[in-house]
Amino acid sequence: MKRLIAGNWKMNGLKMAVQEVESLQRKLTPADMEKNDILICPPATLLMAFKHKANDLQLGGQDCHPRENGAHTGDLSAEMLSDAGASFSIVGHSERRQDHGESDEIVKAKAEAALRAGLTPIICVGESQADREAGKAIRVVTTQLEASLPATEGHFVVAYEPIWAIGTGLVPKTDDIAEMHGALRSAVGADIPLLYGGSVKPGNAGEILSIPHVNGALVGGASLKAEDFYGIISA
Ligand code: PEP
Repeated sequence: MKRLIAGNWKMNGLKMAVQEVESLQRKLTPADMEKNDILICPPATLLMAFKHKANDLQLGGQDCHPRENGAHTGDLSAEMLSDAGASFSIVGHSERRQDHGESDEIVKAKAEAALRAGLTPIICVGESQADREAGKAIRVVTTQLEASLPATEGHFVVAYEPIWAIGTGLVPKTDDIAEMHGALRSAVGADIPLLYGGSVKPGNAGEILSIPHVNGALVGGASLKAEDFYGIISA
């Protein structure tokens, strides 16, 4: 399975950020492209601009509404993301679950919407620090995943992102990532790419990406700068 290195730009990036994408493309070698699928999930406002530049990079949305269209002010459907050039959509990121009260049921509907529109959903799951300290991480995450999986047929990606590791510089122990990814692998089978996300940086990417059943990374902060993102891709 090719590695998937995905950048989640969150609410960052104005149109001049296209220069960052071009700078990344100048660094990428044929060997990098052979080993990795590279995905950028910019704010939706940049998808169209990036579409014309992306070439061998893939584009994704950061969220999608379960419905195809309708009276949902401020929301974007998976069909709209696809129309704008996306081939993936992140669903269930912990910032959406926390800031917008998204339940597993909503995340599941969003994953199904992505599949309906021909996008690959990246379904995010992860435990809180309290869950980890209480020894409940595996149970919490596998339960969350089970309830967030689409009921419809189709290819999807799972991203394990411990909430306490996102944007904090904290990373679980290698054994803990291996244990979690082993449990996720048992839950979803051999063909589903499993990404790790949470403070992945050029300096720790090599070790994280070599853990069994880690098929790539979902990268927040370090995906904003071409140099850092390339440092992860080339790790
Ligand atoms: C994320 O938000 O998906 C993420 C992994 O962020 P960071 O890499 O900044 O921890």
